[in-house]
Amino acid sequence: MEKCSFCGREKKDVNILIAGISGHICDSCINQAHDIIDEELKSTSDFDIGSIKLLKPKEINAFLDQYVIGQQQAKKFLSVAVYNHYKRLAQSKPDKDEIEIEKSNIILVGETGTGKTLLARTIAKMLHVPFTIVDATVLTEAGYVGEDIESILTRLLQAADYDVNSAERGIVFIDEIDKIARKGDNPSITRDVSGEGVQQGLLKLLEGAIVNVPPQGGRKHPEQKMIPVDTKNILFVCGGAFDGIEKKISQRMNTQVVGFGASKENENIDRKNFLQYISPVDLKSFGLIPEIIGRLPVLTYLDPLDRETLRNILTEPKNSIIKQYIKLFGMDDIELSFDEQAFEYIVDKAVEYKLGARGLRSICEVIINDAMFELPSEEVKEFKVTLEYAQKKLGSSSLSKLKVA
Ligand code: ADP
Repeated sequence: MEKCSFCGREKKDVNILIAGISGHICDSCINQAHDIIDEELKSTSDFDIGSIKLLKPKEINAFLDQYVIGQQQAKKFLSVAVYNHYKRLAQSKPDKDEIEIEKSNIILVGETGTGKTLLARTIAKMLHVPFTIVDATVLTEAGYVGEDIESILTRLLQAADYDVNSAERGIVFIDEIDKIARKGDNPSITRDVSGEGVQQGLLKLLEGAIVNVPPQGGRKHPEQKMIPVDTKNILFVCGGAFDGIEKKISQRMNTQVVGFGASKENENIDRKNFLQYISPVDLKSFGLIPEIIGRLPVLTYLDPLDRETLRNILTEPKNSIIKQYIKLFGMDDIELSFDEQAFEYIVDKAVEYKLGARGLRSICEVIINDAMFELPSEEVKEFKVTLEYAQKKLGSSSLSKLKVA
């Protein structure tokens, strides 16, 4: 008689009985065994980096290269910061030598649309950790209209399906961090609702604290039970355009070099891209409080996107816009292709309209929309976007009315 070698139940009493070399196991024993394994894994691994496979900085960099074009400096800094962050997680308690590795939250400075969010998102994808994007502009101090700072963690909890453990090693991207800069010079602002107060509120989050998080977010559900979340191991990546900071950088650099030899040193300065010289003092003169700057020790910048980068962004990333269109058409058995001139035209227009990388997408949409509408109902096996076709479609659209100011 075939029966489960674990619980002894007979074949007729179980749903499934699986045969092994010298015994059998039933479905309910498999489930039980599975639960035991899960429990064991949870309790034995103190630091449980879980599914995170710790890549070396160069490997992280190579992974980023698949999705993000250019931005070598930012990638390098991020790779090292992420690597150290997860090493820190592995070292759950300080070793005997009592050297505790400090958290390496990151701040990315660069024009909008240059890949800040994409970098943070790609890191999260690589690590398989929960990821969320929050906009610093909606944050306010408790008691003011807007979102409480804790709402950042609500989003992260949601991204982690309310698995607190997993949320506690997630990544939060705080966008537009420059918008909460102190506007101290402005006398008309008596209460700096969205500025310094919010920065103060962010401090404990960045540093690591146990924060009571409303699981539903907002203040609409006062009865909800708060969930304590420890932010100690959450990696915060902040991003901001910091409009006008180049001026502060250049001023600082000019005032720093005094006396003889000053002009010589200045000669080597790349005046087209001051951002590469950014340092924490510039963030301070922009209006971030020193405590915040101190908790964002990894500071790096993104380059503005030049024409060549934009061209590469169209086709080179692993899930580039063009690859996505090709895939979409492929699902209808239509082979989509583009002339190189059509690509050049799309890039020219993105540059002309000053739309950056985001513009590439809107321009492509306009060009290709008619084909996406018509072709699936036609007997077409291939379709090529030529320069003429692109010009015609874009020319007849409202996008072409965009004129550079
Ligand atoms: P930011 O956060 O700097 O404002 P994003 O990362 O949101 O910009 O970028 C906007 C869009 O432009 C993204 O969807 C991305 O596809 C594209 N993009 C921007 N920069 C790059 C880049 N360096 N490489 C690849 N794609 C990019």
